[in-house]
Parts: sequence; C-alpha cells; structure tokens
Amino acid sequence: MSLHELSLRELGEGLRAKKFSSRELTQHYLGRIGRHDPALNSYITVTADRALAQADAADARLAAGQGSALTGIPLAQKDIFCTSGVRTSCGSKMLDKFIAPYDATIVRKLDGAGMVMLGKANMDEFAMGSSNETSFYGPVKNPWDVERVPGGSSGGSVAAVAAGLAPVATATDTGGSIRQPAALTNLTGIKPTYGRVSRYGMIAFASSLDQAGVVARSAEDAAVVLQAMSGFDPLDSTSVERPVDDYVGALGASIRGLRIGLPKEYFAEGLDPGARACIEAAVKVFEGLGASVREVSLPNAPLSVPTYYVVAPAEASSNLARFDGVRYGHRAEGVHTLEELYKRSRGEGFGAEVQRRIMIGTYVLSHGYYDAYYLKAQKVRRLIYDDFRRAFGEVDLILGPTAQSVAIKLGDKSDDPVAMYLNDIYTIAANLAGIPAMSLPAGFHQDLPIGLQLMGNFFDEGRMLNAAHQYQQATDFHKRWPKGFA
Ligand code: GLN
Repeated sequence: MSLHELSLRELGEGLRAKKFSSRELTQHYLGRIGRHDPALNSYITVTADRALAQADAADARLAAGQGSALTGIPLAQKDIFCTSGVRTSCGSKMLDKFIAPYDATIVRKLDGAGMVMLGKANMDEFAMGSSNETSFYGPVKNPWDVERVPGGSSGGSVAAVAAGLAPVATATDTGGSIRQPAALTNLTGIKPTYGRVSRYGMIAFASSLDQAGVVARSAEDAAVVLQAMSGFDPLDSTSVERPVDDYVGALGASIRGLRIGLPKEYFAEGLDPGARACIEAAVKVFEGLGASVREVSLPNAPLSVPTYYVVAPAEASSNLARFDGVRYGHRAEGVHTLEELYKRSRGEGFGAEVQRRIMIGTYVLSHGYYDAYYLKAQKVRRLIYDDFRRAFGEVDLILGPTAQSVAIKLGDKSDDPVAMYLNDIYTIAANLAGIPAMSLPAGFHQDLPIGLQLMGNFFDEGRMLNAAHQYQQATDFHKRWPKGFA
C-alpha cells in the first residue's frame, strides 16, 4: 500500500517503527500536491518549508521516544484558521495579503501534538457557500469528477483528503460546511457540539453557529484528530468547561440496543431516490449490528433554512464590520474621504455572495425589521432546539441523509442563491440547535458518493463516532478511491 492509503493509526505505527520518517511522509504528500493539485485547486497556500521543518522536529521527537499518536502526521488546515507567519485568506481578496500574527487555538494544539501542516486549504469566501465556487482563489474540483463541485464551504479540505493530498484536514461548519462536502467526496466529517472546540483564531462568520471539526477517511481517523482539537479554551468565551470524553477509547463497543431515530421530515419530498436507497440500505446495516430503529419527528426542521438565512447573515454583517480598510485587510487606493475608504475597500475586497449576506444581515437587524425577522428567527431557532430535545428523549442518535443528492456540476446553481441555500436543508438544524453531527460514506449513486448523516445529543460525540466506526467495520464504501488519484 502507498503511504497515502494508510490510516492515521497505521501512519503513527509506521513512524514509530521507523518504516518511514515524517520527512519522507511529508515529501510524499508535497509531491502528490505538486502533481495533482493543479487539477483540483484544493490548496490556497502550500507551506512546504514550514512543513519540512515541522517534520524534522517530529522525527527528532520520535527518535527520542516522545510525541503523541499524531506526531509526524501531516494535515491541511482550512484557510479560516489563523496561522502565525502564514497567509490566512479565508478565501477572500479582503485577506489576500493578511499574515496572521498569532495561531488559532486548534492550530496551536495540533502543532503541539506534532502534526505537520502541509498548507492552507481552499474554501468558499468567509465560509459562505455550499459548492466552493465563491473563493477568491477559484473553485475547487471534486476528485470523483472534476467537472463537479466538492461541496462547500470546506471544499478544499475535502478535495485534498479525498484525493490523498493530505491524510486528514480541519474544517468548519456553520450550516453544513463539514458534513455536506464530506458527503459529496466520500469522506467522514464531524462537527462537534457547539463550544467543544475553540473558535479562538477561527475567522468568524456567524459566531453562534460556527464550529470547527475534522474531515477524514474514517470515523477512527476523525476521532483521533477531534480528540486532540477539543477542550476548554479560556480565550473563547463560548468554549465549554467540561472534560473531553475519550473518543478513541469509545471505539469498538457494540452498538446492540442503540436506539436510532429516522426523522420523517428528512425522508420527504426533495430526497433523490438514489440517495434514499443508500440511506435505507445503511439503516439495514445498523439493524444488523443490533440497533433498534424507529421513526421520530422534527416538526420544525423544514423551517431551518429560512431561520438560518436570517440568523447567519445578521451575525455575519456584524462580524464582517471589522473589515473596514483601516485596521487590516484590503485597503482601496486613491480615496479622499473616510466614507469613500470604507465603501471602496469593502466593495473591492468582498465578493458578491459576501456582500449579499452583509446586506441581508443589515436589513434584518435594522429598526422596524428586527422584530419581524431577527427576533422571529430566534424564536423559531428555539423551537428547532426543542424538537431535538424531545427526540433525544426517545432515541440515542438521529439518522438521515446529509444532502439531497450527489455533487452538482460546476456552475449549475451558482446564479441561483436560493437553490444553493437549499443544499443545506438537512444539515442546518444541527447548527441552530448546537448538537454534534457527522456525515459518513453510505454508497454511490451514478458512481458518485452519497453521505449518511448522524446527529447526536449534546456532547455525545463518542457514541456517534463509535456508531459510525461500527458501520465502517461492516461496510467498505469509505475505502474507495476516486479514479485518477490512486
Ligand atoms: N452553505 C451554508 C452557507 O453558505 C453553510 C456554510 C458553512 O457551514 N460555513 O451559509
């Protein structure tokens, strides 16, 4: 087997047994990026020198018998995380020249664990999008069909991992940006409970929804990295002060007796029959593993997209006010007044989708509309949360589709924002409620991957990851590689 086919556990074992060094592994990945990334555009910045220096430091730690399970293993960081001394663009012209002066907490933690950062992954501008077509650096292509989108906004993270240009990557999910692209590229992606992973140094889109997580080639790989990223951070005021469960240790337990709920609203009109067939087959696998399956209802789930498109733009309009051309980011030239500086810097620095969100957000927060839109959306958000509380009184996990169908062709929906927004119809509710959720490979339709979504109760990541792991012991969809990237 080639190095890029190994799991994180196998990579760790190989490094410890000196079958290969971290430098060799890093060079292997840098070589693959050089060969394959021109077709995919999954990286905005490749940090080869920094990576090799980190690899040498990891080799020294390993030689001294030190380090963690992740020491010497490469990864890609979504370009939304601040990396000291390295450009952090967030996919935007606004930050094209921004060199972060500090590391995001998760960058610090993964560096501390000895991981090797290969580079910064492409993404939709400010994480707004479902197809990775809004990046200032151009669209990312799906390794399963380069004429198709990889999903978004973490499209660079998933394309890199799916094509073997990184063994694992970080990602973020505000309304589905970990799970939906994972589904469209045959990966396992997890968004943990809101507050479980620090948001410090993660460029804010919609602060009450944003959550960092992992995209990987298996639940086991995802568990190892999530373990290292999670935990209380005094630098993030919404970080939860609660010990991190042993996700890796939870893998392997039988799921006999696990109660799984199928929300009937997730199997209604709009779900492609090909995707439905994959999900139904997966339900049978879970039953075969001893889980009991019943229908549940999330009656307010159909309201999640309109609720999100009030709350998320409102928060975005406030968060993105900091990009004013004065403190950092793009500054227009040849301006004469302060107002002109603001207008032109923001007009030139932000792309169309970002500007649209800022305008919607400013509108719904403005006097006279606040009660009708923003306050109403907050109330509906509570109802969506209440639906999950009720459902988790009856079941342990909720199972459904991640996306309505397979990846769309590039350009198919890029002129129709509402059609694009509906892509996240199954994923957004988890962000509004704050619960953990993940996507895992559940088969293929027209030779393209279909993802299965699991949602768990607050802080139940361990149980969810183990259920995914058991499913992956019984299936091999997650082991398939896209042709051309073997
Ligand atoms: N597609 C959604 C949006 O554009 C979600 C993005 C995300 O999760 N970052 O807002």
